[in-house]
Amino acid sequence: MNIHEYQAKAVLRDFGVPVPRGIAAFSVDDAVKAANELGGPVWVVKAQIHAGGRGKAGGVKVVKSVDDVKTESARILHSTLVTHQTGPKGKQVNRLYIEEGSAIAKEFYLSMLVDRETSRIAIVVSTEGGMNIEEVAHDTPEKIVTVTVDPVANICPHHIRRISKALGLDADLQKQMSPLITNLYKAFVDTDMALLEINPLVVTKDNKLICLDAKVGFDGNALFRHPDIAKLRDESEEDEKEIEASKYDLNYIALDGSIGCMVNGAGLAMATMDIIKLYGSEPANFLDVGGGATKEKVTAAFKIITSDPKVKGILVNIFGGIMKCDIIAEGVVAAVKDVGLKVPLVVRLEGTNVELGRKIIAESKLNVVSADDLDDAAQKIVKAVKEAA
Ligand code: GDP
Ligand code: MN
Repeated sequence: MNIHEYQAKAVLRDFGVPVPRGIAAFSVDDAVKAANELGGPVWVVKAQIHAGGRGKAGGVKVVKSVDDVKTESARILHSTLVTHQTGPKGKQVNRLYIEEGSAIAKEFYLSMLVDRETSRIAIVVSTEGGMNIEEVAHDTPEKIVTVTVDPVANICPHHIRRISKALGLDADLQKQMSPLITNLYKAFVDTDMALLEINPLVVTKDNKLICLDAKVGFDGNALFRHPDIAKLRDESEEDEKEIEASKYDLNYIALDGSIGCMVNGAGLAMATMDIIKLYGSEPANFLDVGGGATKEKVTAAFKIITSDPKVKGILVNIFGGIMKCDIIAEGVVAAVKDVGLKVPLVVRLEGTNVELGRKIIAESKLNVVSADDLDDAAQKIVKAVKEAA
């Protein structure tokens, strides 16, 4: 789960991490009030969306009067920002963050993430902050330094020394870096973050380290341990279909292709997506209904797929183990009766209660194409979608 910059900064502030003072605003009036409260003389008006690259897209403005706070807030609030991370459709700005301005001497990059290779938290730093870190990684990878942290020993002086050396810090800044890294790491571990990105981490003109931007994502599987953080969720930033799926505990991820997939088991879902690609089409989603799905869950899953206008055909691929084929068949039939079926549907059932499942579908008189195996099913749905197009 991702949160907004202003929320991330509040979380980090609670852990003693230096962030600028700021106030969230939901209207232009709020923004003006916030600016007066902060006092100036320099303010930053920042669009709050779950995407980076706002600066280049005009979503971050440094201003020197309350009047300009008002003008920029009115311009940014409710506008649609298109950044390199939002995709061409962009994202509507519904919240602003008004912050005190900082005088920047240097911009660094700093992030923390779970490194699967070392099974540790990795701290990534670079002197090339503020800009597109992907470009730096591609063009000058030697400017990116990674330090991994032993979970038993936690942050040690040698980590601070290595990070400080990589960033070329003087003794004073190195002294500030020690609590900053220690507290960021504690925040990361204690709140079960999956990603923490500070870009830029700046050195101010009076030689202070401060986190000027903060992007934080949490491990969704650990959210139950953090009710305060779960409350920070902004559903308007998320894919509607993914929200609906999470209500039914379905593992669903929206993709860009045209074939909707309903599958049980993550491995089978991956294989189904691969074989759709093999036969020349693209999946519209990843959907694992899980092992012990009920008829209601299957119905919800099918409705989520059919509600997606990108879906030009549906492939149901079930290997009944714990999951029974008749339950899937009943769910599909119930959903089609409810919402109709405007696109071709290919169903491949195998395993527990397969005969009963096939019978339910046959007797429903639905316009369903049956398939014998996964290969057959993928070819049939790709062909049906091509013919319908
Ligand atoms: P992003 O573009 O979405 O990553 O948004 P950031 O919060 O990183 O802001 C983009 C850029 O705006 C930063 O890299 C800074 O160069 C600039 N910026 C942000 N806050 C301030 C500030 O307080 N003072 C100054 N001078 N520049 C700022
Ligand atoms: Mn940034």
